[in-house]
Amino acid sequence: MARLGAPRRAAYFIPFRGCARRCVYCDQRVITQDASGGAPVSPDVVRRELSGASGALELCFFGGSFAKLERGEMTELLRAVESAPNGSVVTFSSYPGDFEGTDGAALIDVLRGFPIGTIELGVPSLDPHVLARCGRQDDPGGIKRVLTLLRDEGFRLGVQTMIGLPGQTFESAMSDIEELGRVMAGGAWDLRLYPCLVLRGTELESMSRRGGYSPLGLEDAARQSGALLRAAEAMGFNVIRVGLQDSPTLKRSVVGGPYHPAFGELALSEKLALELFEKNPRGPWRVEPYKISQLKGHGARGARRLAELASIPFRAAEALIEAI
Ligand code: SF4
Repeated sequence: MARLGAPRRAAYFIPFRGCARRCVYCDQRVITQDASGGAPVSPDVVRRELSGASGALELCFFGGSFAKLERGEMTELLRAVESAPNGSVVTFSSYPGDFEGTDGAALIDVLRGFPIGTIELGVPSLDPHVLARCGRQDDPGGIKRVLTLLRDEGFRLGVQTMIGLPGQTFESAMSDIEELGRVMAGGAWDLRLYPCLVLRGTELESMSRRGGYSPLGLEDAARQSGALLRAAEAMGFNVIRVGLQDSPTLKRSVVGGPYHPAFGELALSEKLALELFEKNPRGPWRVEPYKISQLKGHGARGARRLAELASIPFRAAEALIEAI
């Protein structure tokens, strides 16, 4: 799922920095702790670490609303790219609302002065009811306006979307992907798809305890993700991640929801099973050797799913899978 030809990444984390409030499901400290070592990021630290690097880098700031950092600090972090080798770029994640209004226009002017790689925007859903239940302050119209604006300004974009959120259905998640595809209008945005997990200490955990939220089960989440992944790729999205990066801290912090250390592989197995079945409902299913593990790995989940789709016993389905 990695972007071909993309420069090597140097990732820095700014957990919750710039966030106006916390979305109910989010704990960036848990999500980024193991990758960042918990150390705060400063322009000096970034410059020092980049000064000895060789080869162009994609300098990434994730885990908060980068564009809502205090403007001087944000500019200094952007300027740190000047210490990196020639051809390096800056990629960051932010909240769509950061780009609205006159502040947004001024922000875009600042960004124009730097080599921006990708602007990744958190678009967990485009359903106003889901956004409100998640404690988000944005609305679908505003999100689409910002995506359109940044697209028309020529920035390369990425969207981070989710499934299994409070009030969200598979149909609404699919309609979000389709709507995002329409706004993308023939471009090739990056896409990250995250199934919602219940993390200890979040508002979502309290909602679950009060009976106000039930997370997706693992199999349900894999099925939804596989179908969405398939639709997204067909629309031209460049899917770069499905599921959170696993880490010991994440594992310890999950108290509910479809956690799996290799969730992305489950989604890929679902996608492949759907594709093979659609192409040839009765088999045989001819598969490139590098994809066989998507059918045979994780308890042969993909092969079992093919058997279910074709309404035949597992062993019969297994016998119909051939490496090309
Ligand atoms: S999901 Fe994004 S905007 Fe919401 S609290 Fe987490 S980092 Fe901030």
